[in-house]
Amino acid sequence: MTQILSETYLDYSDILIRPKMGINLNSRKDVTLERMFKFKHGQTRTGLGVFNANMATVGNFVVAAKLLARGMFATIHKHYSADEIGTFFDSCRGQNIPLDNLFITIGLKNADAEIQKLKDLESKHKWTANRNICIDAPNFYIQKALDVLARVRKEFPDAVIMAGNIASGDICLKLLDYADIIKCGIGSGSACLTRKQTGCGTPMVSLIVECADIAHSVNGHICADGGIVDIGDICKALCLNADFVMAGGMFAGTDEAEGEIITKHFETNEMVDGTHVVQTKYFKAYYGMSSEYANNKFAGGMSNYKTSEGRELLIPYTGSLDKILQDIGGGIASCCTYIGAASVKHMAKCATIIQVHNQLNKVFEKYSV
Ligand code: 5GP
Repeated sequence: MTQILSETYLDYSDILIRPKMGINLNSRKDVTLERMFKFKHGQTRTGLGVFNANMATVGNFVVAAKLLARGMFATIHKHYSADEIGTFFDSCRGQNIPLDNLFITIGLKNADAEIQKLKDLESKHKWTANRNICIDAPNFYIQKALDVLARVRKEFPDAVIMAGNIASGDICLKLLDYADIIKCGIGSGSACLTRKQTGCGTPMVSLIVECADIAHSVNGHICADGGIVDIGDICKALCLNADFVMAGGMFAGTDEAEGEIITKHFETNEMVDGTHVVQTKYFKAYYGMSSEYANNKFAGGMSNYKTSEGRELLIPYTGSLDKILQDIGGGIASCCTYIGAASVKHMAKCATIIQVHNQLNKVFEKYSV
């Protein structure tokens, strides 16, 4: 019989973090953003648990280097060759950018070649200590995903392995036999069409609570991936017990994201001397990794048994990534002062989450400049 769960599954827009008295923090400067992660399979890493998505647009070297330089975590997408990654390693080493929190992404499709790429990094590019691997599949429920994960763990017993994506707690324990971090989130991404095309997905807030509870019970970690609209959503994810948060769209409008700035001219309703005033706006392209565009670019076209589960977007150009990264640190620190958390690690313990019907005042939205 089909089972219908009647409990309402919540998303970021359904909740707020209620400010409350806690330990006395005089300033955001007093908040410790860094946290030490002790992983299930023996490794430790230290940093602020914010990742860029391992997508072609924002999982590039420039974006990754900026997150790493700020003490965050970073991924690079799976379409780079070992030699390209090696050159990136050298450039980071030359600039004193630590590589300890960099995750190299591999997919499932050509597992042999992908594992060979990791071995090449090891033998040719001094990828010998603090190795981190992100095994990425839109749907980690298939047996092949588990097989590749088990194989990668066997080949790299001392690596930190992040695996996903999944969208229910039931699979977490199985994956944590081999993985350290479970990447949670299906259908929440801003360039994602999975919910439209398949009807599948789980709202992020309930998913984080469910998966974190299970993963933490066996010393596993989770990364909340997709659906971050505002920095407040990162704070919410951390307060809900996510260890890491991954964002794509938030970084996609920056100078550092892949692709040129696209200029568009729009005729407005405002008239001057009988002609419409023309407004110029700037954009950058952002596309899902399962979009037709990505399939054409990286997989030689769309297979005839597939539907596109990602879309192409033109999103507003937002300038330098530095500003957003600073705002992320500032937003998280400020959240901590509202709830009396001395450090990011204590956010979930200190937070009270409230379910709301209305979270933002949008009365002047159309006047924003
Ligand atoms: P965002 O931060 O833009 O909301 O979400 C980024 C996440 O969307 C990625 O990390 C990845 O999990 C997911 N994603 C990226 N491309 C696609 C796609 O083509 N289809 C789907 N369903 N999800 C995608």
